[in-house]
Amino acid sequence: MDYLLTTQHLTKQYGRYKAVNSVNLHVRQGDIYGLIGRNGAGKTTILKMISGLATPTEGNFTLFGKTGRDAAPYMSRIGTMIESPGVYANMSAAENLQMKCLAMGVRDPHTVSNLLEVVGLQGTGRKRVRNFSLGMKQRLGIALALVGNPDLVILDEPINGLDPQGIAEVRETMYRLNQEKQITFIISSHILEELSKIATNYGIIHNGTLLQEMSREELLAQCSERIELKTNVPKLACTVLDSMGITQYKVIDADTIYIFERLDDSGSITMELGKAGIKVMGIAVKNEALEDYYLNLTGGNKHV
Ligand code: ATP
Repeated sequence: MDYLLTTQHLTKQYGRYKAVNSVNLHVRQGDIYGLIGRNGAGKTTILKMISGLATPTEGNFTLFGKTGRDAAPYMSRIGTMIESPGVYANMSAAENLQMKCLAMGVRDPHTVSNLLEVVGLQGTGRKRVRNFSLGMKQRLGIALALVGNPDLVILDEPINGLDPQGIAEVRETMYRLNQEKQITFIISSHILEELSKIATNYGIIHNGTLLQEMSREELLAQCSERIELKTNVPKLACTVLDSMGITQYKVIDADTIYIFERLDDSGSITMELGKAGIKVMGIAVKNEALEDYYLNLTGGNKHV
């Protein structure tokens, strides 16, 4: 597997408190990787460590094929927007970008206009950033992160506080950059529902620990409507499902199979399994919403 970034037992301790505890992330080239976790889960701290803004207490990471603890050597290949878009409110979008280009030694005269176009801010002229909507500010933050043509862009809560229109704009911008320029994104959010509109892969962070990594397909499978079948002989049960012409199923663990078709037919599935001498320990139709799935996993209430 071609990973652009992996972390190995990445840990950050503040005094006696472990804000990030032995986290092993796997981000492939081309992913839009979503770090999901409540406020205070440790997302920003992880992003800071892999952006060179904080040093790990323990562990390390492998970035662009090199293993170490310091992202500084790769800074020219990483664009970041961490905590909030670092913008000058009294300047226009173009002036903000010119400042960043100057700071980074980018001399191409077309860079600013190209980046404004990439994030859809080309029509903003002399309008000062203080008069921008939150969505426009976030998109300017993304444009600033793109100065220098990075391979990896790290965005902390880029959709936080945006309305559906703003989320759609940021999503489309990221999606286009990902598809056209093969830019890998790592983005954080505390709202899975919003992140799910963008991310291709997920890492779920809770109390500084990585609970689970999963692909978009795996997450959707967890949350889509299904029959959950419990049996202690899943292999045998699969042969029965096959013989019934059921193909849309997945063995989840040693005693669970998810079936994604014939949802109103659990009676005949139970009967066929019974005929084959297979004990059904439970069978039920489930449909878990994304947010409920996440809340169940992190064992909390909706008010994060
Ligand atoms: P949020 O979305 O609220 O920023 P987060 O998941 O990004 O949440 P972090 O900002 O990484 O969380 O913080 C994780 C924990 O580490 C929090 O409990 C925070 O108070 C603590 N923390 C972060 N930075 C420091 C610091 N410099 N000194 C002490 N504690 C810190």
